[in-house]
Amino acid sequence: MNKKERKDAACRRVDELEDLIRGIAVYIHEHPELGGQEELAAAYLRKILTTAGFAVDNPIADVFPTAFHAVYGNGAKQIAFLAEYDALPEIGHGCGHNLIAAMSVGAALAFAAVAAEEATVHVFGCPAEETAGSKVYMSERGLFDEMDAALLIHPATDRTAIGGTSYATHPLQFTFTGKAAHIADKTYHGVNALDALVDFYGALQALSAQFTEEHLLGAIITDGGTAPNIVPDKAVMKATIRALQAAYLEETMLPQIRDLAEETAARHGASVEMVHYEPLYKEMRSDPRLDVYFAEAFSELYEEFTVLDDDFAEGATDVGNVSQATRASQPEICIGYHIGAHAPEFAAAAISDLGLMQAVTGAKAMARVAVDVMLEKAENPCFNDVT
Ligand SMILES: [Zn+2]
Ligand SMILES: [Zn+2]
Repeated sequence: MNKKERKDAACRRVDELEDLIRGIAVYIHEHPELGGQEELAAAYLRKILTTAGFAVDNPIADVFPTAFHAVYGNGAKQIAFLAEYDALPEIGHGCGHNLIAAMSVGAALAFAAVAAEEATVHVFGCPAEETAGSKVYMSERGLFDEMDAALLIHPATDRTAIGGTSYATHPLQFTFTGKAAHIADKTYHGVNALDALVDFYGALQALSAQFTEEHLLGAIITDGGTAPNIVPDKAVMKATIRALQAAYLEETMLPQIRDLAEETAARHGASVEMVHYEPLYKEMRSDPRLDVYFAEAFSELYEEFTVLDDDFAEGATDVGNVSQATRASQPEICIGYHIGAHAPEFAAAAISDLGLMQAVTGAKAMARVAVDVMLEKAENPCFNDVT
């Protein structure tokens, strides 16, 4: 079989697996589980993969019991399909990760059927994309170092798209500590931690306006005291600070933000502690070659798509960390129109006819790209024939 015939064979296998792919999407949608608690989803996917002949274990069980790593075959090319399956509080699958699990597992099963001896097929079950970022730990432990490619498709609104990037992100928590006192105490006024924090909140907005590179700042006050007649001795702010480059974020923004917090606290006679409350997500480096393969795959599947600029970012993802360990690509696939992610309408789209149909299309695209990677010539992939 030539390359095209193998891609077509993989797509026929996806068609045969359509009920299973839709079944995964529906089951996970109907059993939404928060990041780190995806026991039903992980067990469901592990069972499917085990039944299909994959060897399944969990190399990061100490940190994420609901992660897994499934392996099939023993060919030279190492191709990873990344499955996500965590939901959001209250709105369930408002990010459509049920479809990501369906696409990645469906693509892996179909690709395994045509990969023969040439590839080793990996499925990584990646919990907690929305929060604690299991892929950060997988990347740190070198699980992607030997991969030739890591693939994932994310559901999206309005258009299918390839390329772009994601924000490098630091989730920070600032705890201001003062001294409690009764507000009517005329001899002893305490130190108002909330005053210090509110000052810092305003100063942070002003500082943010001075950063010259593209960035984002989100902040909320999560603890502002216990009763209005007590001077608060503790006030807490959570913030997410994002930039297109981790280097700018870490070398320019973070030191200034830390200094500002300490100066503001000192001015009030308070103290402040800055900690990371979730791991750091690096920016996505979409691999140009994989993006070309996806463009070709979507074209062959009659799926219209947009190519995003290299510096176009909407969100943050721990796939960014994967992309800095191996070649990775995370296109988006359209599952609805005029629907915002992380909203109930998006959760509805993630179980809609279009959403389920697109899960099948996405699985085909990933399987076709995997064939491209498998047949790349090892010496110099840049000079391969892509047709
Ligand atoms: Zn999300
Ligand atoms: Zn998502």
